Amino acid sequence: MARIETPKRIRGTQDIFGEEQRRFAHVIATFERVRRLYCFQRVDIPVFESTAVFARSLGETTDVVSKEMYTFEDRGGDSLTLRPEFTAGIARAYLTEGWQQYAPLKIATHGPVFRYERPQKGRFRQFHQIDAEVIGASEPAADVELLVLADQLLRELGIADGVTLQLNTLGDAETRDAWRAALVAHFEAHRAVLSEDSLARLDKNPLRILDSKDPRDRPVADSAPDIDAYLTPEARAFFDAVTAGLDAAGVAWTRNARLVRGLDYYRHTAFEFVTDRLGAQGTVLAGGRYDGLIGSLGGPETAGVGWAAGIERLAMLLEEPTVDQVDIAVVTENDADPLDAVRVVAGLRRSGLSVAAAFAGNAKRQVERARRANVTEVLFVGRVGVDGGTAASLKLGKIGTGPVALEDRADAVLKALSADIAVGADDAATLIGTGIALIWRPR
Ligand code: ATP
Ligand code: MG
Repeated sequence: MARIETPKRIRGTQDIFGEEQRRFAHVIATFERVRRLYCFQRVDIPVFESTAVFARSLGETTDVVSKEMYTFEDRGGDSLTLRPEFTAGIARAYLTEGWQQYAPLKIATHGPVFRYERPQKGRFRQFHQIDAEVIGASEPAADVELLVLADQLLRELGIADGVTLQLNTLGDAETRDAWRAALVAHFEAHRAVLSEDSLARLDKNPLRILDSKDPRDRPVADSAPDIDAYLTPEARAFFDAVTAGLDAAGVAWTRNARLVRGLDYYRHTAFEFVTDRLGAQGTVLAGGRYDGLIGSLGGPETAGVGWAAGIERLAMLLEEPTVDQVDIAVVTENDADPLDAVRVVAGLRRSGLSVAAAFAGNAKRQVERARRANVTEVLFVGRVGVDGGTAASLKLGKIGTGPVALEDRADAVLKALSADIAVGADDAATLIGTGIALIWRPR
């Protein structure tokens, strides 16, 4: 018979387990807690959309649309794309689900996103983002709230110290047009040294040359004119209101006049939280204002601002998260009726205690397993002779050296079992040595 080849994990995907999983879960749990403090509602949207949703809202000239999308035809012949980010799908939902009625709408989500990129440290083909958006608010206060939320998230993750908020403005439409013309003139004058990618961007999206990582482009990009000279009074007032809000909330920021977002629909505020601890993959959280997006999807002109952060990149920056502590291990003594242990374990878990229980092995091996899992309290389930018959016996003990209040735990165990498996008040509970033993006669 031909040997069956073991399937391989797809390049750029991850199987997240163990410590990596604990880091990942800690990022999500912290995000879920913090977004509630800011009254952002949780939303869940599809993993795939019509290709047009991303092509139209991100812009055909962006790297994401031109090189990175996972696009396929389904069995009905429709062109679908696995989401490369959340904002476009959320904007689509805002229009198709009539969420205009909730504006201004503050929403948050997280989950997998897909981009066909060259995998490396901190860069995957299926990665995961947390995402926060405010739709239908054109006030700078919305930008401030999102940035303060991001800052608090990083603080609560314990990584704020190594991460800097870089802030820029892309101005309003008038500002952007004037600045764009100045940039085109500057880049045209230096055509000869620009990379092929940047030459292609020159016609369609010259702002993005500022963002180029190609070393051939850097000197020209760095010497390009700043937006400041082109800001309309309105655009300047908007930026000033954002920075004043950040200062009032105690959020540190630095101006980066070279920062532009890769996507076409950004206006006014653009920002990135960056670290030097992740090599080339230094941007952990990024976003900005996208007042042009919903209009580009055919909807009414609607303001929007939001950000996304890579969960993997945040997780890599964390201190090692602690392992969940198990409350108690139940060990089945060698002479016990295994069904007594089943009853006890079920009762304890229903009462809300986390319980480790082995599926097999003698009592000694079960204790050893519990010790290795760092459990410090053990409930031994055994059998004793009573009144010419037998009854279940329970004995509480501790392993390891951790401080354990056995009496408190005995109360909790008794309470749990009396609620669930009818251990009566008349059942004797007596202290024996380090443990507490109780003879249990199920009725
Ligand atoms: P980069 O410049 O690193 O490619 P980007 O500008 O494409 O980032 P965004 O589209 O702003 O990234 O996505 C927001 C965040 O998602 C990034 O700041 C980063 O933390 C994360 N991210 C983006 N692409 C990847 C990827 N391929 N793998 C892991 N995380 C990613
Ligand atoms: Mg990218």
